[in-house]
Amino acid sequence: MKIIDSIKKAQGPLFTFELLPPRKGGKIDHLFDTVSELMEFDPSYINVTYHQHEIEYQERSDGLMEKKVIQKRPGTISISTALHNKFKVPVVPHLICGGFTREETEDALIDLNFLGFKNILALRGDPVSGQKSFKPEPGGHAHANELVEQIVRMNQGEYLNPNLKNTSASDFSIGVAGYPEKHYESPNMIMDIHWLKHKVDAGADYIVTQMFFDNAKFFRFVEKCRQEGIDVPIIPGLKPISSFKDIELIPRAFHIDIPNELCQEVAKCDTKQQVRQVGVEWTTQQALELKKFGVPSLHFFTLGQSDNIRKIASRVF
Ligand SMILES: Cc1cc2nc3c(=O)[nH]c(=O)nc-3n(C[C@H](O)[C@H](O)[C@H](O)COP(=O)(O)OP(=O)(O)OC[C@H]3O[C@@H](n4cnc5c(N)ncnc54)[C@H](O)[C@@H]3O)c2cc1C
Repeated sequence: MKIIDSIKKAQGPLFTFELLPPRKGGKIDHLFDTVSELMEFDPSYINVTYHQHEIEYQERSDGLMEKKVIQKRPGTISISTALHNKFKVPVVPHLICGGFTREETEDALIDLNFLGFKNILALRGDPVSGQKSFKPEPGGHAHANELVEQIVRMNQGEYLNPNLKNTSASDFSIGVAGYPEKHYESPNMIMDIHWLKHKVDAGADYIVTQMFFDNAKFFRFVEKCRQEGIDVPIIPGLKPISSFKDIELIPRAFHIDIPNELCQEVAKCDTKQQVRQVGVEWTTQQALELKKFGVPSLHFFTLGQSDNIRKIASRVF
């Protein structure tokens, strides 16, 4: 089932969530457990993130440093397949521009098509660790709108080699990312929404947002998108605070603000369990208000933790 069709059919907000592949060497069982624990809330689909390679410098026995290219969380396509086979829930694999030439993107799309996937979240990806700005592969895409265009062309049966005959068309529904607090590289919100519209005009069916902790920012973002003529569904991304460290790490990693009131609630806590409870309470209130606003889906970034998402889902759905 295509996500856009699930959204169109839904009576209230869908319950959906995102998983990360385990670190290399890890087991898939933990992901299976996370999904099993959330199945009672009838998820409409599950996203699986894609992780580009990272560059590490390791010291050799002769004292010189050696550059190593490492993929720390491989397996997006196989995990997506395994989850779909086991739980019979639509899975949305993420696909990024970073690390892919156009030919490699085409091959990944062929794999996903042959495996029966109908949905993709198309992203640019962040700069590789150690690089200041994003650098596409030679012959790869510089921005997500170009990836959307390539997927749309394959949906029309158009491959990179124009001489291919009797090509088969894929049938992907495409989601893209949006930023209620603007993307960190963008000079301002107007420019960011301008480029977001570019992705939608290229063929994206819906938008999933970066996490945010202040619903007012999401409401303003939706309003501005609508003013700019973006009329596709906009799905809010939510993550409950789950540790003391989140208060520092989340703004640094995701370039978003954490409201002072939430920081103060966390500061009152003595234990990690108390912090998790504050996170659950805050996200539950956000989710209830977003539900009232009429969002198409509530999308949770689980980061492999299901207990807090369970508590929230049991009060919202
Ligand atoms: C819901 C969600 C899921 C994510 N999942 C993953 C994941 O699985 N793996 C991963 O690596 N990352 C993931 N990310 C992070 C994402 O890859 C980064 O935020 C990345 O820096 C930008 O990706 P994008 O697709 O928004 O890029 P783009 O849409 O290309 O935008 C990047 C920047 O360029 C600007 N821009 C866009 N198009 C153009 C253009 N044509 N010309 C000039 N400027 C332009 C935008 O305003 C923005 O500032 C996710 C983000 C979200 C919100």
